[in-house]
Amino acid sequence: MSPLLKVEAPRAWFGPGRLVRNAAVVADSGVVTYAGPSATAPLGDEVIEIDGFLMPGVADRHVHIRLADPGAVLLGGVTAVRDLAWVPHEIFALADASELPSYTGPLIRAAGPMLTGPGGYPTKAGWAPRGTGRELSGPEDARAAVTELAGLGAAAIKVSLNSDAGPTPSDAELAAIVGTAHGSGLPVTAHVQGVGQAERAVGAGVDEFAHTPWSERLSDLLLQAAARTMRVVSTLDILSFGNVTPELRTACDNLVRFRAAGGQVVYGTDLGNGSVPPGIHVREALLLHEAIRMTREEVLTAMTAATLAPGTPADLIVLGGDPLERIEALGDLRLVVRGGKLVASGA
Ligand SMILES: [Zn+2]
Repeated sequence: MSPLLKVEAPRAWFGPGRLVRNAAVVADSGVVTYAGPSATAPLGDEVIEIDGFLMPGVADRHVHIRLADPGAVLLGGVTAVRDLAWVPHEIFALADASELPSYTGPLIRAAGPMLTGPGGYPTKAGWAPRGTGRELSGPEDARAAVTELAGLGAAAIKVSLNSDAGPTPSDAELAAIVGTAHGSGLPVTAHVQGVGQAERAVGAGVDEFAHTPWSERLSDLLLQAAARTMRVVSTLDILSFGNVTPELRTACDNLVRFRAAGGQVVYGTDLGNGSVPPGIHVREALLLHEAIRMTREEVLTAMTAATLAPGTPADLIVLGGDPLERIEALGDLRLVVRGGKLVASGA
């Protein structure tokens, strides 16, 4: 039997609507067995009492983990990531390794390469090693590529609809990608860049924008259609890195109206791109709160993949302050637990 880890904190947020005072979480073999008031918690073999705000570990839905330090990502409070474009043999091996208790980074799920047109993005991009883009040669090839990636364990299929940087998949290829992915139970996420590409994604039945669309102001009608079937991965800060740019303004305008139409937004940073820090990116969370006008609890919900409850992964963090009062508290990490194992405790 592995030792039971028990973490006690004066304030905890287990998930939407689940704020608990004097809380405890108990983990056994990487899984939560108890999350509730500490008064009624079972005993633990190893007990950590910490003065802070306990919440689930953060999930970053858009990273390029090979361009970052996985250890620093986990130490920074991010316990799970989704890699949205890398060389398949490298990234799927790393995703497999990340499931082992010996791995010192976050849990990694991966899309593999972006499916793109001949010479299309990201085949000529400076950040992308050979194989990060998979160039398609027709609908049959598109079907084969998706089937191959599904067999390798892809968590999603990524398609490159970047008309600013080169050819994109044809409409027939795009239809083949979406149809085959959905037949395999996989969502399709799209890098959308260039006028008209967001409309293509919506029309083709793509499930997710891998970035908030920033190339053009989208119509309310298109955003309403997108809100019914798609979600958006935020990645707002990469459009400005702390400044205000026309791209950021356009993206925020689109995202506010997407949310007003009922659309779902999840947190993602595009880690590996520019100066995005490893771990929790407080500025991305601040943008969601201040520019997109999400409540602090909505921001925490967008930043986490699972609630803390019996049966969920024992991935949690403790902060020095309360992010439901002040988002900046997300930058004040005191404890990180992944898979029921203490990764870091400080301050
Ligand atoms: Zn990216």
